Amino acid sequence: MQRFDVIVIGSGAFGSSTAFHLAKQGKSVALLDKADIASQTSPRAAGLTGHLRQTEAMTRLSTEALRKIERFSDETGEPIEFYQPGSMSCARRLEDVAVIRERVALGQRLGLSAELISPEEARAKNPFLETKGILAVSYMKRDAYLEPAQLPLGYARAAEKLGAVLMPNTRVLEIVVENGSATRVVTKSRRIRRRCDRGCSWRMGSSRCGSGRCAGPRRANAPSTDDHDASCGGEVQPADDTNS
Ligand SMILES: Cc1cc2nc3c(=O)[nH]c(=O)nc-3n(C[C@H](O)[C@H](O)[C@H](O)COP(=O)(O)OP(=O)(O)OC[C@H]3O[C@@H](n4cnc5c(N)ncnc54)[C@H](O)[C@@H]3O)c2cc1C
Repeated sequence: MQRFDVIVIGSGAFGSSTAFHLAKQGKSVALLDKADIASQTSPRAAGLTGHLRQTEAMTRLSTEALRKIERFSDETGEPIEFYQPGSMSCARRLEDVAVIRERVALGQRLGLSAELISPEEARAKNPFLETKGILAVSYMKRDAYLEPAQLPLGYARAAEKLGAVLMPNTRVLEIVVENGSATRVVTKSRRIRRRCDRGCSWRMGSSRCGSGRCAGPRRANAPSTDDHDASCGGEVQPADDTNS
């Protein structure tokens, strides 16, 4: 059984970042994902990264996230395609005008480059904008977008360079809690195999085991260890009961 200080389940933006930052602190880390590393929601996002949020706490958090993105390559040694063209939000209903004004006021209070601009100024920035009916526009000069796959992949690679063990195609079946602490996670074996333990075969191109005896799904075009048979589980155990 392998032992780690910390087992991170899921290698999207959140999990990969967590693995990197803990590995950087000297923890032994395992980063598990039931699919390939950084292959699910995070790489499919639009990559829009704005400062202004509904609350002050969220706005501060987003601002810190943007600073992290600006420093990403320095911090991780990994590339990131990252642009800061700014963003605009337009209100066409009276109730949205109040929201835009509140958010700009919040941004200004926090020292961000938030401003209200006229629809004509907005059009000068984006000639395709239809200004008819626009009642208010906010402009955030330093809002960004990025190529979203690079963030989780970069964090995962950087974590690996720091000694973290990446375990793709490792579905967590159970988190074992003993005396109030997570002590163990039970996973499927990471061995890639095409035959079910009960002796039946996958039908290629089918999403289910051919025998009908195994109920679990199988990802298309990928030989995997998905949970069609829970009997072949492996275990990964944290070395220290206080971590999970
Ligand atoms: C179409 C779209 C556009 C978006 N655009 C933006 C945007 O512009 N800006 C923005 O900030 N956000 C955007 N988002 C939201 C953003 O993508 C998500 O908030 C973010 O990716 C969530 O990251 P995550 O790490 O929680 O999830 P994921 O990237 O999904 O990672 C979770 C991982 O956990 C793994 N996992 C789950 N269960 C198990 C298990 N039992 N064992 C092992 N592994 C497991 C999964 O395989 C997966 O890889 C968008 C989302 C979508 C869908």
